[in-house]
Amino acid sequence: MRAIQVTEHGGPEVLALIDAPTPEPGDGQLVVDIAAAGLNYIDTYQRSGSYPIDPPFILGQEGAGTVRAIGTGVEGFSVGDRVAWKNCLGSYAETVAISAAEAVPVPDGVEDELAAAAMLQGLTAHYLSTSTYPVQDGEWVVVHAAAGGVGQLLTQIVKLRGGHVLATTSTPEKAALATAAGADRVVQYAEIPDAAKEVTGGIGVAAVYDGVGKSTFDASLAALRIRGTMALFGAASGPVPPIDPQRLNSAGGLFLTRPSLVHYTRDRDELTWRTAEIFGWIADGSLRVQVGHRYPLAEAAQAHRALEGRRTTAKVLLIP
Ligand code: NDP
Repeated sequence: MRAIQVTEHGGPEVLALIDAPTPEPGDGQLVVDIAAAGLNYIDTYQRSGSYPIDPPFILGQEGAGTVRAIGTGVEGFSVGDRVAWKNCLGSYAETVAISAAEAVPVPDGVEDELAAAAMLQGLTAHYLSTSTYPVQDGEWVVVHAAAGGVGQLLTQIVKLRGGHVLATTSTPEKAALATAAGADRVVQYAEIPDAAKEVTGGIGVAAVYDGVGKSTFDASLAALRIRGTMALFGAASGPVPPIDPQRLNSAGGLFLTRPSLVHYTRDRDELTWRTAEIFGWIADGSLRVQVGHRYPLAEAAQAHRALEGRRTTAKVLLIP
């Protein structure tokens, strides 16, 4: 089978198309023929080595497809079932072996591509807005990079919960996508502290969901109300340098958290609860998952360049 291997840590050029043995299912595993693999920012961190995994390894965490073989000790799945997952290294491939504990059945109303597109970014948007800081009816929050993969889904889920979204994007075209996702106001990144005061009558927003990191961190803190929550969930612009906790005091007793999806899908019940809500919203039309870009598997390096170069919107898929 064909797969994309990280030969050594580095830029997109280290992604190599290889022929690898088709995996056999181990104990507790499913082997799945992949219909679509999701591209996520974490893939770029693992490729570059900022999240260290020793090369060589097949990249990719997320996908959807059809079960072709089942290992010992697995219950509840059959050959031919459609499944999706968000945390199984080796997903930039035609076929992958995944832990059955990570596999989620895909309901009939949801196509494979949408399932692949909804898992990692959809679950992230879900946990941020329902658990990390549960948005209340009528509250204003900031969503950075609102035309992006997480951003468009997070904007929609905040709106489903009755919140108001102050969004950022870098271009007018992306601003239009954020507005289409439901953002109430879209501004440039530098405008965030002033815009936050303006929309809240001088109080500041209840929470900032910040996946951009280094370049937005200071403005995000300045946008918050007293006892507001800074949910720093990513580093698209680079990691935030260490900070003095006293800054949280002087900015109004703020809460700072650095969450990860793994901490919010801790067991099978939590994974299936969040996924069922996401798939339910897709099936009934209340959540619109957009695939912004499809690349053939062999063009994974081009896809990485586009994501890191801020040239993508919504979800990027690799099609084996
Ligand atoms: P996006 O589709 O949002 O792409 C990143 C976007 O960030 C860009 O399109 C760009 O939007 C914006 N951006 C701002 N500054 C920069 C910069 N210097 N370089 C590149 N992009 C920049 O990606 P994802 O939805 O996949 O991920 C968004 C963030 O969420 C990432 O940081 C990722 O690591 C994080 N994440 C965290 C998870 C967690 O559980 N902690 C899980 C999933 C994702 P614009 O041009 O509009 O500025």
